[in-house]
Amino acid sequence: MPKTPPAKSPAKPASATARTASKNVAAKKSAAAADAASKAAGKPGASKSAAKKSALKKPASVRDNAATGKPASKPAAKTTAKAEKRSARLSPPEIEEMFSRLQSLNPHPTTELEYSTPYELLVAVALSAQATDVGVNKATRKLFPIANTPRQIAALGVDGLKPYIATIGLFNTKAANVVALSQQLIDLHGGEVPRDRAALEALPGVGRKTANVVLNTAFGEPTIAVDTHIFRVSNRTGLAPGKDVVAVEQALLKVVPQRYLQDAHHWLILHGRYVCKARKPDCPHCVIRDLCRFQDKTPGDPEPVAA
Ligand code: SF4
Repeated sequence: MPKTPPAKSPAKPASATARTASKNVAAKKSAAAADAASKAAGKPGASKSAAKKSALKKPASVRDNAATGKPASKPAAKTTAKAEKRSARLSPPEIEEMFSRLQSLNPHPTTELEYSTPYELLVAVALSAQATDVGVNKATRKLFPIANTPRQIAALGVDGLKPYIATIGLFNTKAANVVALSQQLIDLHGGEVPRDRAALEALPGVGRKTANVVLNTAFGEPTIAVDTHIFRVSNRTGLAPGKDVVAVEQALLKVVPQRYLQDAHHWLILHGRYVCKARKPDCPHCVIRDLCRFQDKTPGDPEPVAA
């Protein structure tokens, strides 16, 4: 069914139009007044002062249109272009919004590595380099019931440990490191995992990332261990761009609000692992899509942002 066109008002004489324009200006009804003034400006016999007076009450873009009679498209387009020109980095309110959404989705994030003591976590993280958490969990489910303390692992020795972790990449080197770090824990730290970055990084096979994970996850320190997922998410989104993991870590520590710092590590890893994947990020289902600065987002209809 075609729509019925709206009934047209009978044409008014010029004086009636001018009276209407003046009446609207006096009533300060801005939208109606601008429209009336715009019409009046283009008609002979209309009050130019009424049009000018109305126009001066409007923002510059509207005022210019009223004065010149040009369509509003040009200034509106300028405004839109200006609004869309965003910084390559997320602003503090955007970062707050980003973490607020990630928190809403997962209020209590944690590692996917299975562990029950700081030592088990240390071993699991040491085994996880260039391996998946799933693969590490499969190995430690067999290992930890047999040996889950520095003394027990040191007693197994490298050759005794290897069969448990043979399914994990680089297992020869990892077996040697885990046995050596276990012995160092016995010799220097009474068999306990130290809550100290320098002491952790001094352990064989333990780098900055492993130390950060242990400090954050086992001891609740607000550290961020930048792995491949966090590096990618931080750069793509504009959250904390940096050319290497140390630069990204330092940028993150500066920009992530204090109250999110403890869990930011897990939110960013999980986001990178399951949504902002390396090859084909799932941008249509990403809750921070509107904030993200990545230029090559995966196309698709965006999902509504979850509350
Ligand atoms: S919009 Fe895409 S690129 Fe940006 S964070 Fe989300 S998944 Fe990653």
